[in-house]
Amino acid sequence: MQIVIQDIIQSLEDTQNVSDNELYLLISNSSNDVNLELYNHADKVRRLNYGTDVYIRGLIEFSNICQNDCYYCGIRKSNSNVDRYFLSKQQILECCELGYQLGYRTFVLQSGESSLYSDIEICDIVYSIKEKYPECAITLSIGEKPRESYQEYYKSGAERYLLRHETANNQHYNRLHPASMSLDYRKQCLFNLKDIGYQVGSGFMVGSPYQTVENLIEDLRFLQELQPDMIGIGTYITHKDTPFKNFSTGSLDLTLKMISILRLMFPYALIPSTTALGTISPIGRELGLKAGANVVMPNLSPTMVRKKYQLYDNKICTGEEAGECKECLKKRIESVGYKIVSSRGDVKSH
Ligand code: SAH
Repeated sequence: MQIVIQDIIQSLEDTQNVSDNELYLLISNSSNDVNLELYNHADKVRRLNYGTDVYIRGLIEFSNICQNDCYYCGIRKSNSNVDRYFLSKQQILECCELGYQLGYRTFVLQSGESSLYSDIEICDIVYSIKEKYPECAITLSIGEKPRESYQEYYKSGAERYLLRHETANNQHYNRLHPASMSLDYRKQCLFNLKDIGYQVGSGFMVGSPYQTVENLIEDLRFLQELQPDMIGIGTYITHKDTPFKNFSTGSLDLTLKMISILRLMFPYALIPSTTALGTISPIGRELGLKAGANVVMPNLSPTMVRKKYQLYDNKICTGEEAGECKECLKKRIESVGYKIVSSRGDVKSH
């Protein structure tokens, strides 16, 4: 059995693809030796493509106002315990200024989904950041929007967009979201973004309620179809004020394993070691890097709002200042043999 699994890993590395059956064996195998072997192969491929470089993205969580009611998410519309906030353009620009001084050359503007900011306002914010920091990349992560809106943001200077598909299986999608949301529309948004010319990031949660190994395989197949530039996955973590409060948090090992499989399947991809990983283990982000991730996204949001952007319980880094986060991460990254680089960190051509 051991030999077979090793062959699967090798073949995934050599051809970036294996059969569903082989993926099933790999994902469902929980031996530590196999996991270590997988991480090592992924790290080798990561070093071939990106050396020891780790790209940093300054994350600005500019509003937690959301019209969606995703059953897993702490800032869902129906959670009345959330203290809702939004940052003004001025406040967002201040976050960028601080980030720029700290060496960030990518800003990720993320929020709940709402029409609180009109397209004109979003475009104005993007344009103003771009005008001030022309060498920086701006990433938007503000959810599902009409194609025309995406087009306008792009024209204003946004070049990247993050929109996780969350799960590529229709039934599973419908168990995680209310009937007003649809997987088809989410996928359509992703293809629209690609078509417009964005560098696109998608991804899924690992260990979300009702998820099966087959679902994870479908996630990988969908990503093969989409060919995204960035792939963000994070462990599902329970939030006490959601309908899923009684489900348990996903597994660290499975998340690391999926990161490694993604690295082998998509050698060129930008793969973050997420805050969710750092939340479920004190060294989760370091382990994510060792398993093949090459991006980290420290928080640049003002400290006074960080606790309010609580997608899941016990989210880390909600009490620190941006400068502290950067220093802390720098040490963590160096402790496992990689180094932060202060560039835009665009994707390799693929
Ligand atoms: N509204 C934007 C940003 C959402 S928050 C959008 O829809 O794209 C960013 C990501 O956090 C989501 O895509 C989801 O994958 C993740 N997330 C939400 N709730 C979570 C939870 N309980 N555990 C882990 N990740 C979660």
